[in-house]
Amino acid sequence: MSIRDQLKKREQEREERKNQTQESDLPEGVSRYIQNRELKDGRTFIILDDPDDWYFYYVHEDSSFSPRETYVKKHSCLHSPRDIHANFEKYARPGKSACPSCAAGVKRKLYFIVRLFDVEYGTWRVFDTKEFHVLNLIEAYDKIEKTARKFNKNYSLIGDVVTLRKSDKTFTLESSDFEVPAEMSEKVKAMIDDRPNYTDLAYFRSVDDVVAIVEEAAEGHADKSALAAFRNQGADAKTDAPQGKDDSVKPIENDGDRLDNLPF
Ligand SMILES: [Zn+2]
Repeated sequence: MSIRDQLKKREQEREERKNQTQESDLPEGVSRYIQNRELKDGRTFIILDDPDDWYFYYVHEDSSFSPRETYVKKHSCLHSPRDIHANFEKYARPGKSACPSCAAGVKRKLYFIVRLFDVEYGTWRVFDTKEFHVLNLIEAYDKIEKTARKFNKNYSLIGDVVTLRKSDKTFTLESSDFEVPAEMSEKVKAMIDDRPNYTDLAYFRSVDDVVAIVEEAAEGHADKSALAAFRNQGADAKTDAPQGKDDSVKPIENDGDRLDNLPF
């Protein structure tokens, strides 16, 4: 079986396992990951975390939108924090000993996973988005807090309602008039300190899987000679990626979002 077929088979197996294990607090067909298309007209969420508690990690991706071409399949960088409050400097530069894609010089971008409470579905979801959009979200976040603090010095947006909306090639937050029912308010309060496992949400593949992805990179988009150092490392790989358990954890894979990605 060719590498292509083997990879396809692994994806299918992953998909099957995912369908079997998916938690059921979201309606069928709704992803834990908020899709860009849901935000066209704005969607109502309750803020669960201050931006200082937002999880950041890195993603390797290299593609073009017009024409739509994928040079390297999108995947999480193994040289990424595994939890919130990580040392930003530590991960700012590629980790050539921890991640085959970093070693091969594949394009690397900073991403954030922002946890939000979806008032329609009554549970938490995540907005997995890149640095540029997060800058704009934080700017809007701070503006809402600043305005509210003119009237109440102790105001915090945590636990309050916002509309997350697509806006002029990026995203923004606006304050919302939605009245939170008491029962929902209790649920949100309990959820605020009960953070999810961000390692699972970011979906880190094994070193072998990342090597296989870089092997498939389009000509000129990765230095494949750098992969030699990572081949056959197997379970001895020097990374804290969750080896062996990565297949079953992510409810919906990042890659599923690709068609939903915007050209910016
Ligand atoms: Zn990397």
